[in-house]
Amino acid sequence: MTDLSAPVPHQPAREHLSHLDTALPFAQRHIGPQAADVETMLDRLGFDSLEALMTAAVPGGIRAAGDLELPAPLTEEATARELRALAEANRPGEPMIGLGYHATVTPPVIRRNVLEDPSWYTAYTPYQPEISQGRLEALLNFQTVVGDLTGLPTANASLLDEGTAAAEAMTLVRRGNRKAAGPFVVDADALPQTIDVVRTRAEAMGIDVVVADLADGLPDGELCGVLVQYPGASGRILDPRGVIEAAHERNALAVVAADLLALTLLEAPGALGADVVVGSTQRFGVPLFYGGPHAGYMAVAVGLERHLPGRLVGVSVDAEGRPAYRLALQTREQHIRRDKATSNICTAQVLLAVVASMYAVYHGPQGLRAIASRTHRYAAVLAQALMKAGIEVEHQQFFDTVSAVVPGRATEIVAAAHERGIQLRRVDADRLGISTSECTTRSTLVRLLEAFGVDLDVDAVDGAADDALPAGLRRETAYLTHEVFSSHQSETAMLRYLRRLSARDYALDRGMIPLGSCTMKLNATTEMEPVSLPGFADLHPFAPADDAVGYRQLVAELEEWLAEVTGYDRVSIQPNAGSQGELAGLMAIRGYHRANGQGERNVCLIPSSAHGTNAASAVMAGMKVVVVKAAEDGAVDLDDLRRQCDLHVDDLAAIMVTYPSTHGAYEDTITELCEIVHGHGGQVYVDGANLNALLGYARPGEFGGDVSHLNLHKTFCIPHGGGGPGVGPVAVREHLAPYLPSHAMHPEAEKRDGIGPISAAPYGSAGILPISWAYIRLMGAEGLTRATAVAVLSANYIASRLDEHFPVLYRGHGGLVAHECILDLRGLTKETGVSVDDVAKRLVDYGFHAPTMSFPVAGTLMVEPTESEDLAEIDRFCDAMIAIRAEIERVRAGEWTPEDSPLRGAPHTSRALVGEWDRSYSRELAVFPTGIAGPNGVADKYWPPVARIDQAYGDRNLVCACPPLEAFAE
Ligand SMILES: *Cc1c(COP(=O)(O)O)cnc(C)c1O
Repeated sequence: MTDLSAPVPHQPAREHLSHLDTALPFAQRHIGPQAADVETMLDRLGFDSLEALMTAAVPGGIRAAGDLELPAPLTEEATARELRALAEANRPGEPMIGLGYHATVTPPVIRRNVLEDPSWYTAYTPYQPEISQGRLEALLNFQTVVGDLTGLPTANASLLDEGTAAAEAMTLVRRGNRKAAGPFVVDADALPQTIDVVRTRAEAMGIDVVVADLADGLPDGELCGVLVQYPGASGRILDPRGVIEAAHERNALAVVAADLLALTLLEAPGALGADVVVGSTQRFGVPLFYGGPHAGYMAVAVGLERHLPGRLVGVSVDAEGRPAYRLALQTREQHIRRDKATSNICTAQVLLAVVASMYAVYHGPQGLRAIASRTHRYAAVLAQALMKAGIEVEHQQFFDTVSAVVPGRATEIVAAAHERGIQLRRVDADRLGISTSECTTRSTLVRLLEAFGVDLDVDAVDGAADDALPAGLRRETAYLTHEVFSSHQSETAMLRYLRRLSARDYALDRGMIPLGSCTMKLNATTEMEPVSLPGFADLHPFAPADDAVGYRQLVAELEEWLAEVTGYDRVSIQPNAGSQGELAGLMAIRGYHRANGQGERNVCLIPSSAHGTNAASAVMAGMKVVVVKAAEDGAVDLDDLRRQCDLHVDDLAAIMVTYPSTHGAYEDTITELCEIVHGHGGQVYVDGANLNALLGYARPGEFGGDVSHLNLHKTFCIPHGGGGPGVGPVAVREHLAPYLPSHAMHPEAEKRDGIGPISAAPYGSAGILPISWAYIRLMGAEGLTRATAVAVLSANYIASRLDEHFPVLYRGHGGLVAHECILDLRGLTKETGVSVDDVAKRLVDYGFHAPTMSFPVAGTLMVEPTESEDLAEIDRFCDAMIAIRAEIERVRAGEWTPEDSPLRGAPHTSRALVGEWDRSYSRELAVFPTGIAGPNGVADKYWPPVARIDQAYGDRNLVCACPPLEAFAE
């Protein structure tokens, strides 16, 4: 398997330490309810022990054959020590490899107060906009940065990386341009991993891709679109105008993949005619992270905004008539449009988009231009020095990348540079790529020249070298003219801006976020700290394998542990979101059927209750979606399943089923379901997003699954970051292993050939894997198993407390729920006019984040407490829900109309305390309802910054960039 030259030795396990060691096991910190609370909760449910509860809840047929085999748990201190040792086994050096990944400085004020600050990283996706105004403003800034620099009016926030952004652009071109037929043409000078990601996606969807040298213009014949890299991977800057015009003449759309830093000096692609611009925002202050997470971006021309994949923040108005932000247009589009969705992307890269946007806010347009100029200047001086020394430089015009021609000497120079701490790109035996960055210094150039054996004075060369930007492409259009990009340039101002924004938002650092399906559990500090260690943060994804020993060991161990807990044989952590894991898993199924000569198997059965990404992913894997009905009790209707399987016995590819189901119940029928599908030649895909209900008790690879994806940002403690990052590993049984994602630049040689990459980097979002590694290392088998039991206990406790007030819709085995429960409000809504929205917003007045709304059943709330919430918080939530139920009763009794009730008036801002008041309930009840008391009562009240937001208004009047400050005048 993996050849690891010097594995980092593990610390002795806890059980080997003497009994004098009194450190509390981490599991007790991670799990909220302490022993006495667990007793209280079990009592209420009538069970003697957690084991008895789990025996009653989990169907016997799926119970795991044995205990998990994982290393014994470590203390937090020992885990931190091991992680530091792993980080130190990586050697980041000075990366000048380029290819879309560049060294950058994360300003410390942003690192500490965004990347390392729980008020940003523990937030949820801003689906409840009234309590997400801070991150929505930051994302609107991000869209403004991207829109300004690319020269296009509408940018999203955000995509998963540059490679997938290019692939999304390809499918957008096909959707947005029905006139054009023919292949999608890709620049031969595009980033190699972009070409590969595009090819993988295109192959699945039956799109032709032609890779061509665009220096000679477009290849002849029809095409649907073209992608130009600007500047190219080799450093060349091709004026894209010729290709764009030629494409437009043939009714095709033009996509430009651009480097945002270069765009501060080079003319905006939008001004040159591009229809779509994509790229990465990594070099705007986001650490290299050995490949991710980084925010990809996409901006589009007028007329294409309704085809944009991913999330789009827009401006609307609140109930008090003031501007307020919320997600626009295709918000949650997979949930509604399913197999018709524009993309399967759900979790994106919000935290990293916030970092990149703040980098632009902090530096401002002049600062960015200065960073770009300095980066360019180093490249220009380097090229000049090489030429003076008689070394040929391939392109005379470039931004930051010099292509040096060194016949037969490439390997030797790469090694000489490496000895001097610099990583270069060996293009082939005769050519080198060298990319400068914000971090390049005079000393870098001196050592580089030494590696080339060139003896020249850098300062003298500097005095004589001209800039090397093409005169015809110098930037003329303005950018970042909005006040926000010139108001926070001192550190004090920046710190206060960050604090002001995060203070508007409700994240896990304030209270419970009981979101069904999303598993908002503790993101422990010991798990988070390693993310910023330089050994993990500063490594380039294409660094030599020997410089990545620590990461490779960490990945190998994490993949092995994930295989163990899921019962599968092999795991790939490459997919950088759940949706991408789904696509990878379905591609594996597709590859398997084809290899068996059954390429005609292309039907994917999906239960009606499935997450919307399932259907969208199936379409992207080239499959046809057939919906299977749900039975009365919420389980998959096995009669309908049999009928569909018989109907599709010749073309059945797979079923995608979530277990426990999205209804939050352990269904007895899962093993039978798997047998039926297998009996008809199909594969079973178990969506593992709900693994928090299974860990230690059941393993999908054992009870019938062939493949699953997991969400490390749900079950394995990677924080949601306000809507990303995530990691969606795909786990398979042996027969599917040959079809796992590959990557041409993978550090492990045997993983270079295969079905192609699903993400731009070999290990996807490698930089956040230490979080999940730490979680497993800290918890051990026993801790993980107890966490599952307590998660199930807490959900059942809530179901028991709330059922008489809001009926629990579905129950599974033993009349119990799994790790979440659905509260049915439909009856109440019908009788009183009070909607789920009203309850969700009223919860804000009580100091809570709403549960998942109207998924998977419209008109319901799905509550998932997780094991991390303690009993006091769970009780506080139940008390608030019961108090709200009493308010609904007053509407029913006719005391209030629904329109003039505190439910519809919610959430109430502090403006409720002053000025006119014409409501039929008191100001006090509006803002200090019974039950808001936290540990400190009224003093802890969370004040929403805006009142109820008008969704429809924002979609009718689409504004997706920073509004002028006057809009906020009182
Ligand atoms: C969260 C979730 C997904 C999608 O995961 P992302 O990381 O958001 O792409 C898929 N299925 C289920 C059941 C989920 O809860």
